[in-house]
Formats: sequence, C-alpha cells, structure tokens
Amino acid sequence: MDSLDYSKLKLKVGLEIHQQLDTKSKLFCSCPTSLVEESGKEFERSLRPTRSETGEVDIAALFEWRKGRRYRYQAPEGHYCMVEADEEPPHEMNREAVAIVASIALALNSNLVDEVHTMRKIVIDGSNTSGFQRTAIIALNGYINVNGKEHGIETIALEEDAARKVSEEGRSIIYKLDRLGIPLIEIATSPDIASPKEARDVALAIGRLLRLTGRVKRGLGTIRQDLNISIEGGAKTEVKGVQKLDLIEKIVQFEVERQVNLLKIKDELSKRNIKKEELDSIEAQDLTEIFINTKSKVIKSKINSGKKVIGARLPGLKGILGIEIMPNRRFGKEIADYVRFWSGVEGFFHSDELPRYGITIDEMEKVYSKLNADRDKDAFVIISDDYEKCLKALRIIINRIKMAFEGVPEETRSANEDGTTKYMRPRPGKERMYPETDIPPLYIGDAILKEAEKIKPEPLEVKMRKLVEKYGLSRELAEKTINDVNLGFIEELLDKYGDKVQPTLIASIFVNIIRGLKSKGVNIDLLSEKKIEEIVRLLYEKKISKEAIEDLLIKACEKPEYSVQDIVNMIGIGTISIEEARSIVRDIVKNNRDLIVSKGMRSINILMGKAMSRLRGKIDGKTVSELVNNEVKKILNNV
Ligand SMILES: [Zn+2]
Repeated sequence: MDSLDYSKLKLKVGLEIHQQLDTKSKLFCSCPTSLVEESGKEFERSLRPTRSETGEVDIAALFEWRKGRRYRYQAPEGHYCMVEADEEPPHEMNREAVAIVASIALALNSNLVDEVHTMRKIVIDGSNTSGFQRTAIIALNGYINVNGKEHGIETIALEEDAARKVSEEGRSIIYKLDRLGIPLIEIATSPDIASPKEARDVALAIGRLLRLTGRVKRGLGTIRQDLNISIEGGAKTEVKGVQKLDLIEKIVQFEVERQVNLLKIKDELSKRNIKKEELDSIEAQDLTEIFINTKSKVIKSKINSGKKVIGARLPGLKGILGIEIMPNRRFGKEIADYVRFWSGVEGFFHSDELPRYGITIDEMEKVYSKLNADRDKDAFVIISDDYEKCLKALRIIINRIKMAFEGVPEETRSANEDGTTKYMRPRPGKERMYPETDIPPLYIGDAILKEAEKIKPEPLEVKMRKLVEKYGLSRELAEKTINDVNLGFIEELLDKYGDKVQPTLIASIFVNIIRGLKSKGVNIDLLSEKKIEEIVRLLYEKKISKEAIEDLLIKACEKPEYSVQDIVNMIGIGTISIEEARSIVRDIVKNNRDLIVSKGMRSINILMGKAMSRLRGKIDGKTVSELVNNEVKKILNNV
C-alpha cells in the first residue's frame, strides 16, 4: 500500500513514553538503580489469584491461562531487598524522583497535583513480585509544541519499573530483580497525533526534553514507548514496549494498513453474505489418515510423536485468510498468533497458502473431499497436535474469524524488528486501580519545587550554543547531537577527551558512523558505552587512527565478548596515515606491473587482495580501494 490518506482515515495516535530516571535509589527502597550481570540467588513465586471483579473477564481469562506458569526471580546481592522480594511493604516514595518528574512536568506545561497518591495496577505477567505495579499521578493537562502544533499531555505519572525478563522456557519464566523498582516517568499524550511522522516527531521532542534534564538513564531499554493507534471505523490498538524511535513511523503506518485491510475483510464478508452464526456449526474432522505418508516435515513429526491431524471446512471463506494485512503478514498469520497465545498450539495451515510446506495438491484434494468443501468457495484449516488441543485451536480460529465480521478487535500488540506488529494479548478494559494503602500521600511542597527548579531541562538554544561555541561543532552536527539518544554520553566524552580528540570526530562517531553501520544492518545494540569510550580513549592516546574506528565498531558488534583492546590486538590495528598506506600500495603495484599490463583493470581484484592483507584494520577498505584504483590507472595511462 503506497499512499494512505491519514487525515481522511481520521488517524489518531497517542503516545505513552516510559523513561527510567537516573536517581540514586529506587522508588520505594534504597537499593541502587543500576543493572548487574550476576544473577545472585533464585527464588520462586506463583502468581497470586486476584480478586474476581465483575467486568474483568479479560484479565480473569488471562489469569486462567497463565495459571500453570512458574515464575523464578534472580536476586543479585545489593540490588534487591525485602521490598523487591515482596516480603516487606514499600518505603516512602523517593523525593528525588518526584522532583525530577515535577521538573519535566513543568517543562511540559502541566499542572502538578498537590498530593501524590500511589495506586496499584494489576500486573499479569509475573514481572512484579507483588502482582501489581505501583504508580502515582504527578501532573495533568499539559502540552508540548512540536513543529508549530500543540499536542496535549494528558497525564504524567511516576511508576516503578518491572523486573526484567531473563529467559522464558515453556511455562517457566525467569526474571531478574535489579530493574524492579527503578523509577520511571510515564508521559501520556492526548490522541491528537495525526500522521506517522508526527508520532515520531512528538516522541523525538519528548525524548529530547527528557535527556536535556541530564537526570534520566541512558542506553537501549531505558526508554520505551507504547503507541495507541486507531482510524475511523477501526479500533484502538496498543503497541507495547517500542524501544527504537526509528520504528515509530513504520509501526503507525503498518498498523493503519492493517486496520484498513481488516475493514476491507469485513466488507468482503458482508458482500459474500456469510452469516457469522454459520461458523458456530463448523466441525472438526480427523484427517490423520490422509497425512500418514506426507512430505510435510511439520505434520510428519507430529504424527510420529503420536499427535493427530484435524481439519475443518470454513464455509465461503476462500481467499480470506490469504489476504495480506501488513507487509508479509496474511490474515492467517494474524489468526495463528491468537491460536498460539490462547491454545499453545504453534500454528496451522490454511488452504489459501497451500500447496506449500510439503503439503501436496493431491493431499489438498483429499482434504477437500473429506471435508465436503467447495473448492471454489470454501477454505479449510489443518491443525496438528493432541486432539483436544486441536479442538481448542479450532475454536480460537473460529472466534478470531468471527471478530473479523466486526472489523478490528481491540488488542495489545508487540512490535517486530521491521515495524510490523503481532498480537500480544487482548486489551484489558479500563485498567482498574486500587489505592496503595502502604504508602502515605506525599505533599508536593516548596522543598520539592525548589529541587525541581534546579533540574529544569536545559533550553534547546542554550545546549545548541554550548555545543557550537564550546566544542566547535557545526550547527548541523550540533543539532544531530542534541537529537541523538546518546546526547548525555557524547557530552561526557567531549568533556573528557575533547582536548585531544577532535570534538567533531567524537560527535560524528555517534551521529554518522554508528548510524551508518546501523543502516548497513550491523547490530549496533551490542555496542556498550564502555566499548565506545574505550575506542575514544585509544584515539586520545593516539594508539589508533580515526580510519580504524569503523572497523573497530563493526568487530565490537560482531564479538561482544571481546574487549576493544582484544580486537585491536587481534586484527592488528595501528595508526597508519594515508601517505603510508599509499606508499605500501605503490610498492605492491610496482611489483605487479606485468600483471597490470597484461590484465588491465581486471588486475584490481588481485591487487586489492594483496593490499588488504597488509593494510586490513589499519585503514578502511574504501580508502585502500581508491588508492589501488588510482595507482593502477597511473600505470595503465603510461603504458
Ligand atoms: Zn530494594
């Protein structure tokens, strides 16, 4: 889908931005707010049954489904206490965190509440030992001006971060407690964002404002955004936990596409005059016999381990499951996500995607016959698992298809790396909050306001001037630096190393080199601040040349277990000037004159190999290639 008219579709996007605060201690205890490698001792908790409240069917259903889950918690020494272990009530709310949030709230033109009341929000995934997250509203009704448009800031809250997931295997999930309780600011905008680009720009502006306080955590995972997206006639979809700003535009665009296409499916179903109720009479048939000698590896291995193959006719639905609703995601895949979540069955096959995956036309014919299906009108599904699980999966499939008659179901989704999203769980109704009786209300008085005044985010222009005047960055580079998520870190490096390493180079490492690597597909998430600083330090000590930076960064991403010094030793990076490199290339070219004369420009590959074997790691390959080209041309011109 190339162009969508977002205003015609009445797109509405609201953001919820969660950012960890850089406080000395956690929100409700005095544990530090840093993450650690070690896992410490482990203990287990089972999820507590929650009060069964009316109207909370979704949550109740989720609890039901999650009942068999086991949660283990890693408790690293010094990074948890009785509060995180839920063996002691939370202590008083961290005033430093309140002051930081108040300062941000004021910068966002919001009204501070007089008294802060802590509430409990139910958590269903075990990421909090107590079974709920504590949250407190600090300010209301603000706004931010972005590119001349005023965007509402509905609420600003202070909450505790959840434990971080270490691993998930089957029904057993392991969390680590170091992150649990780190203060988070949660900023919720009004749903007044009207295009994907606007969503990105508002997120960028708020993120920048947060960083300009200098009091928020840095690095991947310290800022997470939830996006609420809807179009007219569609439904509110919540995309959870987006960590990368660059993805926001795509996520919104793809979600709009998805909703548009689901609405098209709705129209198509009504055009076909299919009655939703007809689907209730769909029956499962045992198809195991048909697939006894199948070439489909998936089905074969299921049958070999004693599972069944069942199928069902989907009357009148030919073509529907095959409709692409997002890039590379058919409606069938969307249903499969529901099946996986609600039944635990890994997936199913549907006629719109067959013959494929080893399932032959011949087998399809047998299925059509056995199911009494009309090849021109009907679709079918094939599920393989324990018989009971298959039946459950089929019910989920039918239920999801029935939802398609209404259009877009409200749901919570998670983002994939490419900006597409997948079903995560249903959207719980309006979240229920309970007062946290263990924590007394906190009055926002003069002391906190005074503290907030000191933390005020530095105005953009002031920061700009500083980067331009103090470090000599161009305005363009300064602007990119300010918008970079690593702003605070870049400044730290400028202060520490800027006297001997060109400040322009330091900033470029982030806004040009690392971003360039990212667009080339290098996994830059594996770059820690520590590694980048090691590289800058080697530059500072004149142990490497700037030409080596890119190679070092790439290797650091490829071999995250190696230190930068290890990499330097391993690939023999040293300082080499372009003049030295040229003289080496000249030598090689001179010694291979005959080859060049006989092969002409085709000799380049061989010469490049020879040159790289001597220069690899010392200077970048592109420069070597230019040098080789130039020198070879010189020879050829003089032949
Ligand atoms: Zn603690």
